[in-house]
Amino acid sequence: MQGLMMQQPLLVASLLTHAERHHGAREIVSRRVEGDIHRYTYRDLAQRARRMANALAALGIQPGERVATLAWNGYRHMELYFAASGSGAVLHTLNPRLHIDQLAYIIDHAQDRVVFFDVTFMPLIESVAARVKSPKVFVAMTDRAHMPRAHVLSTMLMCYEDLIDASSDAFDWPLVDENSASSLCYTSGTTGHPKGVLYSHRSTLLHTFSAALPDSLNCSARDSILPVVPMFHVNAWGLPYIACMVGAKLVFPGAALDGASLHELIESEQVTLSAGVPTVWQGLLAHVDETKGSFSSMRRTVIGGAPCPTAMAAAFQERYQVDVLHAWGMTELSPLGTVCSFKAHQLALPQPDRYALQAKQGRAVFGIDMKIVGPQGLELPWDGRSAGDLMVRGPWVTRQYFGSDDASPLSDGWFPTGDIAKIDPDGFMQITDRSKDVIKSGGEWISSAEIENIACLHPDVTTAVCIGARHPKWDERPLLLVVKKPDSAVTEHELLRFFDGRLAKWCMPDAVVFIDSVPHGATGKVLKHQLRDQFTDYFVPG
Ligand code: ADP
Repeated sequence: MQGLMMQQPLLVASLLTHAERHHGAREIVSRRVEGDIHRYTYRDLAQRARRMANALAALGIQPGERVATLAWNGYRHMELYFAASGSGAVLHTLNPRLHIDQLAYIIDHAQDRVVFFDVTFMPLIESVAARVKSPKVFVAMTDRAHMPRAHVLSTMLMCYEDLIDASSDAFDWPLVDENSASSLCYTSGTTGHPKGVLYSHRSTLLHTFSAALPDSLNCSARDSILPVVPMFHVNAWGLPYIACMVGAKLVFPGAALDGASLHELIESEQVTLSAGVPTVWQGLLAHVDETKGSFSSMRRTVIGGAPCPTAMAAAFQERYQVDVLHAWGMTELSPLGTVCSFKAHQLALPQPDRYALQAKQGRAVFGIDMKIVGPQGLELPWDGRSAGDLMVRGPWVTRQYFGSDDASPLSDGWFPTGDIAKIDPDGFMQITDRSKDVIKSGGEWISSAEIENIACLHPDVTTAVCIGARHPKWDERPLLLVVKKPDSAVTEHELLRFFDGRLAKWCMPDAVVFIDSVPHGATGKVLKHQLRDQFTDYFVPG
């Protein structure tokens, strides 16, 4: 027997129509690349998104065709999120931090029909345009007065506000199949070509419901949300959609991601919740420490994309009374997989145990199932000690890469994440390494993440990266690379002693090398393979 409830497809456009109707006066504030602060409401957003949907139709964009963006977090980018996906096209967010060869590859691979870009990217667009075959139109996301001077692009360069002005705001969002594609994001691909992850309306909506829950990102109509994580990186972890669903105020930082600019925006817009990668928070914390500042409204910050060091969690929580939500995810997971929020019986834990828990990436949100498996594919116990390959499944996990002839990456219905993890009896997962970064010492695995987390607790350490360097006896041994605080005189010996009592002896790093800086990739992650290439023979004599 069938249920007797209404059939309504789960569509991205419904998030916007909900926000317009039920939270129409709620504000969206953007720091523009033009330099000023722009503010308007969900009502304005919805009206301009409909105009842009008409403009896309006038450009001849057909359902399923790709509409690319090369843009910071801002209201025009948000309009495109809905104009493109809502009208049945596919929003393709491009990461401007990628190497130009990769960008050109991705644009042609996705067969983007049109590329919308922030004016700061004009030089990049001109170089890319000379190399790509597919897009016929480039649109500068600005008004007539701020149009960039084009050297190469003149014939196909259009102005965003001209398109808006020329279009009607009467547009009915089509009722497309909820399984049709809504957006596309390529993994940054530290090795090989980037791979396209193609989200559907249904997967996006289900992810939005789950990610907004109190034990996930805990978002509500009373929040003022600052997504520092870029809209070009896994849809800013879904926050633009979540904000529409719950009616939260949105605050977009544009291109100004330095500590001073972020802090100013957090205070002036009374941000309650922010989200970003640890490297960005390092800059913010350094600024607030230096200026003896504080956070008058921010109560929670989501930290993910890379492990959140305990020292960072402690700084936010103890110095500034900002709760840290450690989260884990991947482009292939839309991105949310786990969030570290306490269960009832954990609330009374002593502080050191709470920090040990918060160093974990957390428990699966509803919709995601996970397991860890050993070398033969056998499931390992959730004992907090056994480490294995982390596999996930769920309705917002990718089953096939876009435009790829390769076989599905799934193994028996599970997606192999490429992460090595442990899971404790409470279901809290902890990443110990990327599988390619794990340190294999005499047949045992050593977690570089654990070593890095302890090193960061030392007051003289700014950044710590641990790699496996080749070793004549043990295959590999941990080598700790450290960026010191300016003016610090800490020695290798002192840092090595710091591990005494904090880590099993055989897991301790064999040596420390001080370096000036750490290379970061396009999504803010440390490029460990570059450091490995540089230091791999450190323990090999001669
Ligand atoms: P990319 O593929 O561009 O590196 P993703 O954001 O998809 O970008 O990266 C996903 C990977 O990032 C995960 O598989 C994991 O290795 C790492 N990661 C994400 N969040 C965390 C976290 N909280 N702690 C440790 N690693 C994380």
